[in-house]
Amino acid sequence: MLARPLIETKRDGGRITSAQWRQLINAYAAGGIPDYQMAALTMAIYFRGLDRQETRALTDAMLHSGATLDLSHLRQPRIDKHSTGGVGDKVSLILAPLVASLGVTVPMMSGRGLGHTGGTLDKLESIPGFRTTLSLPEIVRQLEAIGCALIGASGDIAPADRRLYALRDATATVESIPLIAASIMSKKLAEGLTGLVIDVKVGSGAFLPELDRGLELARTMIELGADHGCPVIALLTAMDRPLGRACGNALEVEESIMALRGEGPPDLMRVTYALGAEMLLLAGVVRDRDEARRRMEVSISSGKAAACFQRIIEAQGGNPAVVDDPGLLPEAPECEIFNAPRSGVVSRVDPRTVGHGITLLGGGRTRVDDAIDPAVGFVITARPGDVVRSGEPLATIYARDAAGVAAGRRALSAAIVIADEAEPPLPLVSHRVTEAGVEEYLEG
Ligand code: URA
Repeated sequence: MLARPLIETKRDGGRITSAQWRQLINAYAAGGIPDYQMAALTMAIYFRGLDRQETRALTDAMLHSGATLDLSHLRQPRIDKHSTGGVGDKVSLILAPLVASLGVTVPMMSGRGLGHTGGTLDKLESIPGFRTTLSLPEIVRQLEAIGCALIGASGDIAPADRRLYALRDATATVESIPLIAASIMSKKLAEGLTGLVIDVKVGSGAFLPELDRGLELARTMIELGADHGCPVIALLTAMDRPLGRACGNALEVEESIMALRGEGPPDLMRVTYALGAEMLLLAGVVRDRDEARRRMEVSISSGKAAACFQRIIEAQGGNPAVVDDPGLLPEAPECEIFNAPRSGVVSRVDPRTVGHGITLLGGGRTRVDDAIDPAVGFVITARPGDVVRSGEPLATIYARDAAGVAAGRRALSAAIVIADEAEPPLPLVSHRVTEAGVEEYLEG
């Protein structure tokens, strides 16, 4: 099939039909369309956009480019959550075992790092032995036994997205509402869910920083869910600073383990509980947010959520002892404290600069096939609004060697801005979007 006329159509602002989308995506997934043509098409989509019908057709084509999970024999509700991507965003690692420990099946399919943002799969793979590629029968068996599997879009599921995702990362075409919506929803609809919660990030570190674009993305994914009989709820959460303190793969796994043991930083726990409450409500296992919060807190304080994480790690070939002893995670040989260069107020901790800093340390990719160093990254204790004194510790750099430490120092010098005064940061959770519309999020 010839991709050129479709590229021309989109370049000139025309529409591609559903049948054409199907042919194109099937051919791409089968290796019949070269990446340079797909790159040109994604750039045309970036500039021209897709209407609702085209977005649906692209999503369907990507969804049916591979197998889908049939989990209809499971009696429990099947709920997942997905984030549009951020820095320090390790919520999935906490939420999946936490919600699964409360009687909900969580078939969580995640992605790798994209652009400046981290990826759940890369984080999980920092656990020695952990396998994120499971066969379909393995996924189903694990969901039956434990209620949760933490997996990537494998060769079987949404293969078109896997290729396209990497291509968009390399061609600066990630930041497109229909492309992000189709990418996320094709993976999620392949999981056979009964409900989905989406964490739409807004702020300078999000792919779509502006609130109105975040809302449009949320509405697009809610519509796609409704078209497929899958209720979707979105929360808009802040990504104008990293979430939690740890930024970097193994460091984030360690922080997630601490969170599951009841010692997570307050901002991380607020976002986790807000998203978890929506998952439990969609599952119909709680009456309201207060009950959801209480049940999640009890699961954490009783050790149930951490034990569930341990079972998942063991089932996927990882070393479950990391939950009791995070010291078993890869550790960077070099570390250095980063101190405040002057007194004042922390006015910014820029997530994009932090994310690119992790890549410079070797913890992210600049090419699709780059290996990543799981141990490197930052633990940033400074938060916007903190009053600090010159010389006070703001962060720790974890690096492979002295050059990495120097790169980390440069990144943090640019990311952490100290001024005489600071604007207030974005509200941590600002809006809730459902099929019924948009409401301000009020924490109860
Ligand atoms: N997450 C995804 O799965 N796809 C995107 O395009 C962006 C974030």
